[in-house]
This record gives sequence, structure tokens and C-alpha cells, in this order.
Amino acid sequence: MQISDRLKSIQPSLTLAVNSKALELRAKGADIISLAVGEPDFPTPKHICEAAKRAIDENFCRYTQVPGIPELRKAAADYFASQHKFAVTPDAIVIGAGGKHCIYNFLQTFLNPGDEVLIPSPYWLSYPDMVQLAGGVPVFVKADVEHGFKVTTAMLDKALSPKTKLLIVNSPSNPTGAVYSEEEFAKIMDWALDHGLFVLSDEIYEQLVYTGKPAPSALPWYAKKPDQVAVLNGLSKSFAMTGWRVGFLCAHPDLIKKISAMQGHSTSNICSIAQKAALAALTGPMDCVCEMRKAFQRRRDLGYAEVASWPGIACPKPDGAFYLFCDVHTVYGKTVHNSTELCTYLLEHAHVALVPGAAFGDDNCIRFSYAVADDVLKRALSAVGRELAALQN
Ligand code: GLU
Repeated sequence: MQISDRLKSIQPSLTLAVNSKALELRAKGADIISLAVGEPDFPTPKHICEAAKRAIDENFCRYTQVPGIPELRKAAADYFASQHKFAVTPDAIVIGAGGKHCIYNFLQTFLNPGDEVLIPSPYWLSYPDMVQLAGGVPVFVKADVEHGFKVTTAMLDKALSPKTKLLIVNSPSNPTGAVYSEEEFAKIMDWALDHGLFVLSDEIYEQLVYTGKPAPSALPWYAKKPDQVAVLNGLSKSFAMTGWRVGFLCAHPDLIKKISAMQGHSTSNICSIAQKAALAALTGPMDCVCEMRKAFQRRRDLGYAEVASWPGIACPKPDGAFYLFCDVHTVYGKTVHNSTELCTYLLEHAHVALVPGAAFGDDNCIRFSYAVADDVLKRALSAVGRELAALQN
């Protein structure tokens, strides 16, 4: 079979692959708990579903403007403005089929072959592949568990080269849940812009922060230097809308025009019905987001208390998102030797699906998504804890 050179090194997304595997085993009757994919377990709030039903009844079923219906672009611009007190114009917004699609299109539009992209590691597993698909070269900047999986400007400095063009920041982070403080974030943004780099700030987990303070955003830097910053957000995580596929990117209007031109040759507009649902989400009440955040915080506390009690396992307390990223390398040796073998072992013996840290750039770790009901989380973690203890003996 002929396959393009571009695709030869690209592997399927492991988060989605593990999820499919868990669904398949469940369909065959196996009692599997999946803490694999990062997906809220809540139903999409009712008022959002109602808006979608209305859109169908009104036959809002035709092509729309490629970058999104004007009222949705405005709602996304207003969302940024209301969250961060910086005005954004609708022509600085493109609506894509999820955050992933927006990032993909941005990279295709922005990178030239050979451009280096700094990616703090552990990283969300799709960044490197998307960079490569755009002809770019991922350059990883490794942050370790002792430093809470956060990078510093000194670490970024070492990875800088004349070819560096872009830095991707992701706070709250998938897979670690780390949230940079205002000060840490500001240092990194200033460092990048002073070095003439462009920053893509993936803020998809912005609403899921448990520090009592908002997560720092790159929007103030966009306001100062719109030709050097892009900010990504979307509805999947905050409004429990993963399947609807709605993300939005804020960037310089000229860049947005090019992204839209490209999108016009691939997907065209995203689903018209999903756009109406997204409009209802962004212009409607935010208390549903607040309720879900409270539940995630409760589960974070519950999950963290459990993993912190496991001897020999290190896990910095995550301040955001819905993941625990645990360093489990002390169990490697006799029966399992890496994170992939460990996850296979845990699927077979604890009946819990997890994602190996190798997929996120750290083979010492495994990722737990705690976006499941409290009792399910408890059951899954006790089963995993038992197996890890047995592997250590
Ligand atoms: N972002 C989520 C995760 O990491 C959803 C799956 C994906 O797109 O990677 O599990």
C-alpha cells in the first residue's frame, strides 16, 4: 500500500486507541473501568441540547460561513473578553471542529518545513504529530516530577536555536494537570516574545482549575502583540461537549483569514447544528460549568488522596484539568518494564484502562483521567493500587 512520506511516522492517537479498546472489551461483556480518555462523564447541559434541537427544527442545516456563523464568532470573542478583560474582535476568531482541529489548522498555516517548535514535556500526545504533519520539528523540553512537571525559561533557553519559531504552552496541562502561576506564566510569555517566538497557548482546560484563582491566560500578551500569540479554547471540556466538536482560536485577523482559507478547502464550516449549540453554551448561564468544576475538584481530591498513599509512587498534586500523572517507575523491573507494559498489565489484572506515560513523553509515568463518577473512581484506584503494590514485592 502506498502511503505518503508525511504519514509514515504518524501513529494513531493513543488516548483514543485505548478508549476504543476499553469500549470493545466492555461490549464483549468485560467489566472494564476506563480512566483512559479525557472526557467529562456529564451529559451536555440541557439548554445547549435544546438549542441544537431547535436548530434542526428550524432547518438550520445548510453551509454556513467557513470560520463560523458571525454570532458564534462574536460570542467566542466576548467569552475571551469577559474571562480576561481584553477586547477581542470577531474577525480574530475561527471556529473549528474541536480544539484539535484548530491547532492542526493553525500549525499548517503557520509552520514552514524545518521550523522548530518547543514543546514542554510531558505534552498532550497530538502536538508532536501535528507539528510533524505541518513539516515542523518538535523539540521537547523535559520537565520532571520533582518540579511539578513545569518548565522554566532557563530550560527553554537551552532548547532554543536559530530555527525555533514557536512555543506551545498548555496550562492547565494535559496530561499532568499542572497549572502555571501568574508569575511563572508571565516569565515564559515574556521570554518567548522577547526572543521573537510565536506562542500558541492551549487553554482548553481553563475552566477546570481548583486553586480558587483563574488560570493565567496568554490573552493579555495577544492584546499587546497580536502577531505573536494565538489562544486556543473550546467547549469539549468545560461544557461536556466532546462529541459536538467545537473549538475556537483567537489570533491575528490576517492569520485567521488564512486558516479559514485552508479550512474552506478541507472541512468548510463545522456542523451548523453544533454551532447553534455552542452559541447557547457561550451566551447562556455558566452555573453548569461551575457545578462540573466542583465535581471534578471533589474527584481530584479523592483521587489524589488515594495515589498519594501509594508507597514509592510520586504524583504532584494537580491544580487543574482532570488527570493524575503518576511516576510509577519503581514498579518496573520483574514483571513489567515500561509504561506500556504496565498499562496492559493493569488492564488485564485490575480491569482498568489507563494511558501509558510514554505517549506523553514520559515512560516513567501513567495517566489517570478522573472524569468518572466518584464510586467508579474509588473502585478503579483501589484495584490499581493493589496491583502496583503486588508488582513492587
Ligand atoms: N484530549 C483528550 C485526552 O487527552 C481526548 C482525547 C484526545 O483527543 O487526545 O484524553
